[in-house]
Amino acid sequence: MMKLIFLGPPGAGKGTQAAIVSKKLGIPTISTGDMLRAAVKEGTEVGKKAKSFMDAGKLVPDDVIIGIVAERVEKPDCALGYILDGVPRTIAQAQALESAGVRFDHVISIETADNVVEERLEGRRVCQNCGATYHLTNNPPKSEGTCDNCGHALIQRPDDSAATVRHRLEVYHSETEPLKAFYQERNVLSLVEDAGDIESVNRRIMAVLGK
Ligand code: ADP
Ligand code: AMP
Repeated sequence: MMKLIFLGPPGAGKGTQAAIVSKKLGIPTISTGDMLRAAVKEGTEVGKKAKSFMDAGKLVPDDVIIGIVAERVEKPDCALGYILDGVPRTIAQAQALESAGVRFDHVISIETADNVVEERLEGRRVCQNCGATYHLTNNPPKSEGTCDNCGHALIQRPDDSAATVRHRLEVYHSETEPLKAFYQERNVLSLVEDAGDIESVNRRIMAVLGK
């Protein structure tokens, strides 16, 4: 049983690392960003509530997030543990998980500088079909513009535009970064330096997990 949280600013590589660690440990990744984008695409009630916040680079209200996460962690594939990617993002979300009795083995904060984030997100390309993430230069797909996994077209996320990224970074520092102190107090926080390529960062994460 392993319950993990990947923390860090947008573009830190949470989703990239979560995909690798999920595969290695055989536990699912729960990405609220992916779930919300799917909800927007399908036009569900959650999607309708979330869209304007996401487009503006603002956080979606806590009650919406707490609801979708509570439902998701009850699914049978979560029985052996899971990785939370991009959630919790506020103290209220962390408290809701704690009140529901969820305890985490490790909270891994990927420590990425603001100037690196901008370059990362400018070059990020994602598959709209399966959510796989690439980078134009750091992690390009085998065939330009096409997903290695499923063959669908890659797109740039609309909220990865420079102006929205700046706002998302501000939101990270004010709303999400305080979670480091919250989990430090619970003795589960590890900081992982974001230096080198995707594989080097992954080695540091696996070391924290004792794997
Ligand atoms: P997050 O989920 O934290 O927002 P992503 O996993 O989507 O971040 O990564 C952001 C971008 O940076 C992607 O284009 C990804 O391919 C690239 N990337 C992730 N980790 C690294 C790394 N260590 N070095 C270089 N590029 C990286
Ligand atoms: P991400 O894919 O993690 O970069 O998230 C994209 C967007 O979805 C964010 O900018 C927020 O608008 C929204 N979002 C994702 N996860 C959360 C969360 N835990 N709390 C609030 N908003 C979220």
